[in-house]
Amino acid sequence: MCGIVGYIGYEQAAPFLIGGLEKLQYRGYDSAGVCTNDGEKLIVKKEQGKLKELKAMTDDGNNVKGTVGIGHTRWATHGRPSKENAHPHLSRSGKFAVVHNGIIENYMPLKQQLLKNGITFSSQTDTEVVVQLLEFYYDGSFTDTVIKVVSMLKGSYALGIMCMDAPDEIIAVRKGSPLIIGIGEKENYIASDVPAILDKTRNIYRLDNDEIAIIRRDSISVIDREKNNIEKSVEVIEWDIDAAKKGGYEHFMMKEIMEQPKAVHDTVFPRIRNGRVVLDEIKLTPEQIRDFQKINIIACGSAYHVGVVAKYIFEKMLRKPVEVDVASEFKYREPIIDEKTLTIVISQSGETADTKEAMEEAQKLGSHAIAIVNVVGSTIASEADSVIYTLAGPEIAVATTKAYSAQLAVIYLMAVYFGDILGKISEKDYKRYVSEFESLPEKISSILEMREDIKNIAEKYYECKDIFFIGRNIDYALSLEGSLKLKEISYIHSEAYAAGELKHGTISLIEDGTLVIALATYEKLYEKVISNVKEVQTRGASVLAIGCEGRNELHEITENIIFIPKTCDIMLPSLAVVPMQLLAYYVASFKGCDIDNPRNLAKSVTVE
Ligand code: GLU
Repeated sequence: MCGIVGYIGYEQAAPFLIGGLEKLQYRGYDSAGVCTNDGEKLIVKKEQGKLKELKAMTDDGNNVKGTVGIGHTRWATHGRPSKENAHPHLSRSGKFAVVHNGIIENYMPLKQQLLKNGITFSSQTDTEVVVQLLEFYYDGSFTDTVIKVVSMLKGSYALGIMCMDAPDEIIAVRKGSPLIIGIGEKENYIASDVPAILDKTRNIYRLDNDEIAIIRRDSISVIDREKNNIEKSVEVIEWDIDAAKKGGYEHFMMKEIMEQPKAVHDTVFPRIRNGRVVLDEIKLTPEQIRDFQKINIIACGSAYHVGVVAKYIFEKMLRKPVEVDVASEFKYREPIIDEKTLTIVISQSGETADTKEAMEEAQKLGSHAIAIVNVVGSTIASEADSVIYTLAGPEIAVATTKAYSAQLAVIYLMAVYFGDILGKISEKDYKRYVSEFESLPEKISSILEMREDIKNIAEKYYECKDIFFIGRNIDYALSLEGSLKLKEISYIHSEAYAAGELKHGTISLIEDGTLVIALATYEKLYEKVISNVKEVQTRGASVLAIGCEGRNELHEITENIIFIPKTCDIMLPSLAVVPMQLLAYYVASFKGCDIDNPRNLAKSVTVE
């Protein structure tokens, strides 16, 4: 999901490509490569690891000849980080080269079809299927073949493509993943993000979904799949390089909050095939799944909060007992688990030391460990018995947002997948879940649209000393995350409480003006939460309510309300978390905090 650059002009391409990739490093990557046309063939240089490996190998690009080229920094999604899996990928005879950002969701059936035709593959990536298809279907026209092949692809992609027979062209296409074209003087560029080309030009075209750009030294034509010309308007970039890295947002955190519809889409959609949830990453037979007597979830921080949501969902849907543990506690509490216990560990980085050690302990006791991890090839991913990758893309802000949302999405997928195997879901409910999955990204987007309203609420309350979050059931699980997000980045003291538990102690802390954020999205317990809201209001609290659309009576309770769209119960947390992330962000922003790098915190905690 990382960086693409491309160059066509009269200068040597490789030094520019490597310089461009350096400017895209902030997007995170695990390997890098370039390809140029030296007049006789397409040359590929690539290496696992940081760019300095590639720079050393190519003398900063100076020993790779050619005035046309494409480059890539990879953030692995399919196939571990390695030299073979690094991009660019060449077709078998070396006629085509491709760099790709994104995920080809239907690469498996396409690959199988090519394998049947005797085509061999040299990587485990989804991307290689694109380059092999190009060669397989090549009819002498570069453009026609690209059109034919992209119409076969499902998923998200930004592609930079070169063809030996068309040495004076690069073709760029995109769907879902970003791609821009930089307009130069007798030279043109492609890039997945503006910083890569800012020192060459500020004039760009933004390629839209399904548009195909044919880029030459002195011309750029953009066409649709029927080969009609598309008039693009030039956008002049005013941002400096720092703002450009953040997509024009002030912080990576906001950029990542805004990327959540895509993170959820990319995590969920490849796993829904023909109306069924397919989790073939889980290396367990249906019998083994039916045999489990207990599920054990282990994680830290926000990932632990995903585990708490999962407990409510799994117990309700699967009717199996679920325990959730903070990883640092699990190992030392002499847990009672064995081969009849399924362990699920959750970690964005896949390097969290506490989680890794807890997983090892569970495995030692005979439990099968499924890891939900964002970074392909990370330690936890390598050591788990099964891995389900969240496909959120690299997350840079220390406070997690999109990785949390992608982890939640995996929990729903697992609930539906296991529930089906255990015979706990009717066909009618199954269909409803699948259709809710399909509309989830859009519903998240609709909440993001309300960010100005949430900013206004934040402006009213950013000077609070204490903020409480209350909810019941999944709303309680979610309030844990809302409270943590706020603490992490705004440094305001905050507590999350099961709404019914407040009166057993903590209510003594409520005084005039204390802000209580009440989550009331779980319809079954709505009335009960409202009673708890009344209790705190009676003691002087100001209330911000988060409820589902249609609950208009909330207007009589408080003036601060955020309505989220309706969805099935299990998916409510994906929607309700968004206003809380935005609130934490704006509160921290009004307070002038260092949002992307909050004090005392690290993104990946690799110590016990
Ligand atoms: N899915 C591709 C891979 O794993 C592209 C990853 C990326 O966007 O960097 O190779």
